[in-house]
Amino acid sequence: MVQINHEKGMVFNIQKYSIHDGRGIRTLVFMKGCPLRCRWCSNPESQTFFEEIMFIKNKCIGCGKCVKVCPQKATDAKTFEIDRNICTACGNCAEVCYANAKKKVGTGYSVGEIMEVIEKDRVFYRKSQGGVTIGGGEPIAQPQFVLNLLKECKRLNIHTAIETCGYGEWKKVKEIFETVDQILYDLKHMDEQEHLKLIGVSNRLILSNAEKIARMDKEILFRIPVIPGYNSNDENIIESGKFIKSLMKFNEQIQVELLPYHNLGADKYTSLGRTYQLDDLKSPETEKKEHWNDILESCGCSVVR
Ligand code: SF4
Ligand code: SF4
Repeated sequence: MVQINHEKGMVFNIQKYSIHDGRGIRTLVFMKGCPLRCRWCSNPESQTFFEEIMFIKNKCIGCGKCVKVCPQKATDAKTFEIDRNICTACGNCAEVCYANAKKKVGTGYSVGEIMEVIEKDRVFYRKSQGGVTIGGGEPIAQPQFVLNLLKECKRLNIHTAIETCGYGEWKKVKEIFETVDQILYDLKHMDEQEHLKLIGVSNRLILSNAEKIARMDKEILFRIPVIPGYNSNDENIIESGKFIKSLMKFNEQIQVELLPYHNLGADKYTSLGRTYQLDDLKSPETEKKEHWNDILESCGCSVVR
């Protein structure tokens, strides 16, 4: 069982001046830790709830400093690879690596510390109608911390959005959805068995939470990552479209957007000592995306193209 610290949130990145992931200019806060394991995840460093070290081998200049400072003797003196069975993620190696080949991912932040970063950009939010988007990883997997952060943003009248897979016990996550202004909600597969096979959990909780948030008066954008050969068949797109359309009776503002597969995160798996499982997969062609968008529109969905 993962122990979550409610005072500090485990964050793997804070990105400023983003124009994606919500309206206007935004600050993105990426929470670290996710209960799902999508094989196509482009941020594998976001998956675990603990600190990790990335080793970007092509940046290494072979100075050997990381070997000398490792208290665990976890760094190979010739290859500088990390034995992750004994590495404690103390971060010593990252501190001395001036080539930035070793990098620690995962930092515990208090709400106040994140707000200090956010407040510096308030002028951009005001001018662009932007705000703060909390993504991940999975933000609702650190529910109390994320709720506190959202409340603090609301207190300062900052627009908030959340990117979520929706996999969280309703009584623990309800207040997050009640508090946030905009919800970007992933739908990965409509078939329960396929969902279980692909991602490791059933989609029941995700679909049932989707219906609950649809009943709230919120800006909601469903996002479907389209992964060729995994969830890209017309049947799944039709079922997704029908499901989203069925929720529009509660909330006419609901929209849907496709996120076609890309492999931009593949190298990060190697840096973390893991194997990327979709090496041979290609991004879908533009015509295919248009075809899927047409299907969603024929189901009555409002599509963001
Ligand atoms: S400190 Fe960085 S650059 Fe030097 S050997 Fe270690 S990983 Fe390579
Ligand atoms: S994080 Fe610490 S324990 Fe792990 S390889 Fe680097 S110096 Fe060694």
